[in-house]
Amino acid sequence: MMTKAYIGLGSNLGDSEQILREAVAKLRTLGAVAVSKLYRSPPMGPQDQPNYYNAVAELSTHLEPLALLDELQRIENEAGRVRLRRWGERTLDLDLLLYAEKNIINERLTVPHIGILERDFVVIPLLDLDPTLQVKGQSLQSLDLVQHSTLSALADQTWAD
Ligand code: ATP
Ligand code: CA
Ligand code: CA
Repeated sequence: MMTKAYIGLGSNLGDSEQILREAVAKLRTLGAVAVSKLYRSPPMGPQDQPNYYNAVAELSTHLEPLALLDELQRIENEAGRVRLRRWGERTLDLDLLLYAEKNIINERLTVPHIGILERDFVVIPLLDLDPTLQVKGQSLQSLDLVQHSTLSALADQTWAD
């Protein structure tokens, strides 16, 4: 069955714009992709690290959730992802934010992704892709953080081409 999944992309090490562009190209091998604008955002967690580049991709895929996670982790590894410290700097982070309307909890996967409703760098790009999106019964558009966002948009939809 074809499922609509949303994937959060982040990078703050290396040539982040290029790394995100390559990640989107690899996602396109898994199904049809639409991308949000490209954003810059201050780091979450340790503050002594560079600002992030963030975006969200909407992926239509036949992959089951764990198979999709395998692919996302493979793409992270190909970008040279190394775990240094919690919420620390990384070349590429790919989070499975939403998988259709599914709720998933197992040892590898929590979907909807745990931080969605608290993270402007996820909510704002999700709204680029679907302004009516709801998560856990909550309309994203009406969240306070949408009005108090710390993000700045770098480029429109054409950035990933
Ligand atoms: P956060 O999850 O708070 O954004 P992070 O992205 O830095 O932090 P990682 O080190 O990239 O965390 O991932 C740790 C583990 O989270 C992964 O090994 C993966 O199994 C698990 N995980 C659970 N739910 C998800 C999800 N929805 N998307 C991606 N990974 C997930
Ligand atoms: Ca993350
Ligand atoms: Ca992650």
